[in-house]
Amino acid sequence: MASIFSKIIAGEIPCYKIAEDEHCFAFLDINPLAKGHTLCVPKKEVDYIFDLDDGTFLQLQAFSKKVAKALDETIPCIRVGSLVIGTEVPHAHIHLIPFQRETQMAITSAKMKIEAEEMKAIADKVYQAFKNI
Ligand code: AMP
Repeated sequence: MASIFSKIIAGEIPCYKIAEDEHCFAFLDINPLAKGHTLCVPKKEVDYIFDLDDGTFLQLQAFSKKVAKALDETIPCIRVGSLVIGTEVPHAHIHLIPFQRETQMAITSAKMKIEAEEMKAIADKVYQAFKNI
């Protein structure tokens, strides 16, 4: 069965889309640790990130770097941090978190409540910035 992220990539489940290229896709995390918390996902469905073939792994890293730049340009933050957890959704992904406090980088920290309208506004801004990178 396709993972929830494969369904998002296929457009079967809605998301706040941030970026896409031939191999990867990015969208806002629905339970964000910070405004702009983004997931970067390879289109190829593999559960564990370190089981990706080298080519896909490097494509995901390069794609995540571009998405991080777009986040840096649009979301006020100290830095964009990156995390790999992967225990909830069995489809490899990198969390990018534009944090204002270091505690926002802990996956066990409280999640933010952000209204749909604001999530869409954030996604649209980052999407535009990504296109210009
Ligand atoms: P983990 O697998 O532990 O790295 O966490 C998976 C992340 O995916 C969590 O932060 C969830 O909030 C996020 N997530 C799960 N379902 C969705 C969805 N439909 N849209 C956006 N983010 C999601």
